[in-house]
Amino acid sequence: MQDKLRRQYQVDREVSRNGYFEGEISLSNLSRVTEMLHPDFDVEHSRVTLKFEFLRNEFDLPLIDGQLDTRLVLECQRCLGSLEKRVLQDFRLMIDASDELVQESSLDTLYSDDGYIDIVEVVEDELILGIPLVVMHEDEWCNEHLPSPDSSEAAVKENPFSVLKQLKTTD
Ligand SMILES: [Zn+2]
Repeated sequence: MQDKLRRQYQVDREVSRNGYFEGEISLSNLSRVTEMLHPDFDVEHSRVTLKFEFLRNEFDLPLIDGQLDTRLVLECQRCLGSLEKRVLQDFRLMIDASDELVQESSLDTLYSDDGYIDIVEVVEDELILGIPLVVMHEDEWCNEHLPSPDSSEAAVKENPFSVLKQLKTTD
C-alpha cells in the first residue's frame, strides 16, 4: 500500500504497519544540498524522486529501506562551469539501534527525534554522501586559464636553479 509523502513519520506506527511511501521532494527544501550545487541551477523546479518503506529485520530492529533518484547540477572546481550528475542511491538504515549494534552492523543508524524521523533530513544526508568530494569535468583542459598538469611539469624542468646547477658541474 502506498501513502502520500509527508515530512515526519512516527517510527513505531509505520514499522508495525510496514508503511510504504513514494513521491517527490523539491530540491529547494534541501538547504544543506543546495549550497553544494551550481549557483545557476534551478532548484525550485528540480525534484528528488523517492520511495521507502519501514520494516523490522530478523533481530526485531526497525529499519528504513529506500531509494532516491535525482539529477544535480554541480560546479566544476577547475572552471566553475556546470556539471550534471545523476544520483541514484539506495539506502538502508537502522533506526535507534544500540551502540553495540552500531559497532557490529555494517548499516548506518538513524536516530529518531522522540520516536519521529524527518525524511527530508534522511534525503539530505544520503544526497550529500552521493556528491563527490572533488567535482571536476573529465576534460582536464576545461579551464584554459589554468595550466594543464603537463605544462606545470615542463615548468619544473626549466627551473632556473637546475640550470645553474648544470653550469656549476660543467665548470
Ligand atoms: Zn570544468
